[in-house]
Amino acid sequence: MNVSELVLELSDTIPDFPKSGIVFRDLTPVFADADAFTAVIDDLAARFHGRFDAVVGVEARGFLLAAAIAYAEHVPLVAVRKAGKLPGEVLAEDYALEYGTATLEIRPGQLAQGSRVLIVDDVLATGGSSSAAARLVERSGYSVAGIGLVLELDGLGGRERLGAYDVYSIVAER
Ligand code: IMP
Repeated sequence: MNVSELVLELSDTIPDFPKSGIVFRDLTPVFADADAFTAVIDDLAARFHGRFDAVVGVEARGFLLAAAIAYAEHVPLVAVRKAGKLPGEVLAEDYALEYGTATLEIRPGQLAQGSRVLIVDDVLATGGSSSAAARLVERSGYSVAGIGLVLELDGLGGRERLGAYDVYSIVAER
């Protein structure tokens, strides 16, 4: 099986999680399979190889992917976290959720100015969190080399919202 077949084979679909009416795609079985996880990391790293100087992981499952890519490519790793988790000076970006808003934060000054940053997360839905992460990267003085994802959900406008960026997902459900 190739990497996209592995992701499709192993991922689960869970109705009414985390609340009624939401169909949740669960990639944790992909992380729990050593061959699949290795294939996912190798695929994301190869897609952007040589075009990024650092990797940003979006809390929380993005951390798992970003850490492995940082290790594989021997590049620095920076966390984009939910509000209130990072100490010291932070930059913050709000983004809209279906109901209400959420905030992501970054500590600036951790990378050289002008660094080319690969942003990584597991699932692309509306694109709200990835676009907030991209704004944080740019406000920190870096450029967005690309956005790498394992699974892209169709019909939620994520790709359109990230139109300015090089967005790659291993599986795009269209
Ligand atoms: P977005 O900001 O609407 O694109 O949602 C993407 C963020 O929410 C990512 O951090 C995902 O981890 C999480 N997310 C949204 N929908 C799902 C899903 O169906 N399964 C797993 N994570 C999801």
